[in-house]
Amino acid sequence: MDQKTRDDLLNLFQSKLNEAMRFYLETCTRCGVCTEACHVYASMGQVKYIAAYRAEIVRRLYKKYFKGRGKFWPAVGEAKELTEMAVEELFEAAYSCTGCRRCMVYCPFGIDTQMIMSIAKLLLIGANAEPEILTLLADTSVEKGKSIELFKDGFLDGIKRLEAEVVEKWQTEAGQAAIPVDVEGADLLYVALAGAHSIIPAAAIFNAAGENWTLSFFEAVNFGAFVGDPSKTKLILDRIVNEARRLKVKEVCVCECGTAYRVMKQLTGKQPFKVVSITEVHARYLREGRIKLDKSKLSGSITYHDPCQIARNAGVFDEPRYILQQLTDDFREMSREPKYNWCCGGGGGLVALGEETLDFRMKSARVKVDQIKTTGAKTLATACENCHTQLSNLDDHYKMGVEVKFLSSMVADALMQ
Ligand code: SF4
Ligand code: SF4
Repeated sequence: MDQKTRDDLLNLFQSKLNEAMRFYLETCTRCGVCTEACHVYASMGQVKYIAAYRAEIVRRLYKKYFKGRGKFWPAVGEAKELTEMAVEELFEAAYSCTGCRRCMVYCPFGIDTQMIMSIAKLLLIGANAEPEILTLLADTSVEKGKSIELFKDGFLDGIKRLEAEVVEKWQTEAGQAAIPVDVEGADLLYVALAGAHSIIPAAAIFNAAGENWTLSFFEAVNFGAFVGDPSKTKLILDRIVNEARRLKVKEVCVCECGTAYRVMKQLTGKQPFKVVSITEVHARYLREGRIKLDKSKLSGSITYHDPCQIARNAGVFDEPRYILQQLTDDFREMSREPKYNWCCGGGGGLVALGEETLDFRMKSARVKVDQIKTTGAKTLATACENCHTQLSNLDDHYKMGVEVKFLSSMVADALMQ
């Protein structure tokens, strides 16, 4: 690696060194408590998948270039040179970590390995060694934000075609749009994913609850966050923030996409609107009596997979359980406490990489499969697109015999007219 490339990468490294990051990089005592916490290590048993081992690759670079002892006495300071081989190790560490933060729950110091891996991802971008497809997808989202006029008509035509299916689930009042778009003064802006499955059930529930809502022109998914590019993450996020401000909504409701919700919740900053997940909104409608559910519409036992980015990393634990109480008398928990739930193995951009990561995703989520099977449940509900895809892949691969469902579509199917 030439000096200029190395210097550029070290500048990127430096840009991530805030107080919290320095604490994470300087604190690990190698106590080993996190060893069994990572689903990848627990499933595959290879040392390179221990959380502290992954972090150590970044930590040694930090020691070499940002700490006196590593600079002057590398052998004593456990320092590591930034070379092409180090970049390969960073790739292996970062793209086998789903950012689930289960290791952080176990670590006595709360060391955030996901955050340390964000340095690795940024260095990979700087070295042009990140998965290219994630950058392409992030660039497409950014471009769409710049030239929405080009996409508007096609989007509106597509939405019109979905309205009949929404009305089938919930009859709207005469003259009311089943899927309102671009409504200034709406109370709630709903940010969906591309695809009818993310729009139809949500629209039916909003209409049943009498919500004054409008659909966003933009998709919720943030590929900038998957690839670990802070500036693209912000640009993709800003499209929605600007739309919410323009329409003067009171809240932005993020669909069943864990990363989109966490990014929106944690990076939006102070705004004149609140950020909520669709699961929180559904629980609120039920608590306020704005919708009612008919348990007889769903049969058999149900278990629930907490999406890491919505539950452990953003605190939404109670709401899905409240909803499930209204859907079934046979709900089965997966773990003794939801914060210890195993990751599905699909986060961190791994599902977005599709077939390329399929073999690894199946091998690294074996403990998740055991956890699901132990419940004996027939239906496996979740509230995240990534998790839904990964859990469906696991069901096919391991023949679990469960039906994987979105929680929102279960609510829509059980709506009482
Ligand atoms: S539990 Fe925390 S302190 Fe212990 S080895 Fe893991 S990261 Fe380091
Ligand atoms: S964040 Fe999750 S995947 Fe990454 S090291 Fe920690 S437990 Fe493993």
